[in-house]
Amino acid sequence: MNAWWQRRSVRFRLALWYAAATALVLIAFGWFVYEVIEHRLGAEIDRQLRIDFDLIEAQLSLDQEGTVRWNVRGSHGDEGFARISAWFEVWSDNRELLLRHWPILEANIKEAPPAPQTSTLKFATIELEPALFVRVMERPGRVQGRSVIIRVFRDQTEMRRTLREIVEVSVLGFPLAVALAAIGGYLVATRSLRPLDAMARQARRITSESLSKRLPNPNPSDELGRLATVFNETLARLEASFAELQRFTADASHELRSPLTALRAVGEVALRDGDDPATLRETIGSMLEEGERLTDLVDALLTLARMDATNADAAREEVDVAALLDEIRDQFQVLASEKRQTLTVTSDFIAVQADRTLLRLALVNLVHNAIRHSPSGSQISLIAARRAGKIDVSVKDSGPGIAPEYHQKIFERFFRVDKARSRSRGGVGLGLAIAKRAVERNGGQIVVESNSDRGSVFRIELPSWATNA
Ligand code: ADP
Repeated sequence: MNAWWQRRSVRFRLALWYAAATALVLIAFGWFVYEVIEHRLGAEIDRQLRIDFDLIEAQLSLDQEGTVRWNVRGSHGDEGFARISAWFEVWSDNRELLLRHWPILEANIKEAPPAPQTSTLKFATIELEPALFVRVMERPGRVQGRSVIIRVFRDQTEMRRTLREIVEVSVLGFPLAVALAAIGGYLVATRSLRPLDAMARQARRITSESLSKRLPNPNPSDELGRLATVFNETLARLEASFAELQRFTADASHELRSPLTALRAVGEVALRDGDDPATLRETIGSMLEEGERLTDLVDALLTLARMDATNADAAREEVDVAALLDEIRDQFQVLASEKRQTLTVTSDFIAVQADRTLLRLALVNLVHNAIRHSPSGSQISLIAARRAGKIDVSVKDSGPGIAPEYHQKIFERFFRVDKARSRSRGGVGLGLAIAKRAVERNGGQIVVESNSDRGSVFRIELPSWATNA
């Protein structure tokens, strides 16, 4: 049943739910109406019985022998009407029938109602003949000073017929109403879900080549509209990622091609007219240089690919930042001294919970950039400090600085402010992208503070939970 239900279309299920709800409401409403009408009609009969009682009590009298007589020409009304419709019994206090006036033949009665048991006001419904229900009221009364019990009757046939008609009409109308509700529900559901069909058709047409297409969204504020909005936002993100991927592939191919072309060109020239051993040596030297550039590029690409491949948090260990900065300074000492630059480390003992290899990778790239972009004889500072529960590790140089409009872009892959100059300094345009990714995998972020004339500060901010000292 459950599987059958799940396999039905949404509009079919909605229509059935709608029909079921309508049926429930109709049943509840019908039952309520029936109860109210039955109560009203019953109360009306009881009211009539009280009037009958007063009427009849006033028309009773005792003759000389003490027998109860019904004087139809009483003060109230028409003899003929009263003779036909009056329906009553008069009982003595000791449960003896004194007078009976019934408008139907007593012979037809299955079982006459028994004598009154108590002398209090009492209402009851009895079935005198098959399908002949009467309402009875008995109540103590007085006939010229003698106390009696008077019982008055009223036929309930009319009331029962009215109630039966209500039930019949309801039973006949009920399936019709439920069927109409189901059809209506189906039509409404079909209409409401029509945008979904349009979305599905359009979504089917979207491929990696047509990611700029969007789902139709005629009403962004309703539920389907919100779904289309979310889907379109996802498509936009997907489109941006695809574009970035394509750009990255194109850039990577281009970057790989340049050293390869250079290698080939240098080789071809040397092969053609490289008889001189000194020229050949020079050629081999520049070929090795290009080879080195290729290796650097492939290494950087591999590093990025590896970091992209894992989304899990990096494995953290306690890292002594001061020791790490000293280690990096020692590593770059030779390179810096070639440009007569000084590398200084300022750090208290600060320990962080981080992936040491990734943190080191980020810092190496920042220091390498600082050395590359700063003039000879300048100073480069590595500073670690605790600030508002965070750990800041900064690399400060007095190089050319970076204009504010490039502060975001420099972290993009293959972006270089000055392509030719950067390339001639050995950069492949991936250093900062690697540093950014490495810091992010450590749960931190990297920011740059720089103006075009006052050097740059690249600051790695590690979150407070990374702090452990
Ligand atoms: P590259 O390998 O070219 O250095 P990066 O991703 O490391 O690539 O840096 C991107 C660009 O940011 C560089 O081309 C350079 O223009 C700029 N840049 C990076 N670090 C510095 C710095 N310390 N001073 C000035 N410019 C910098």
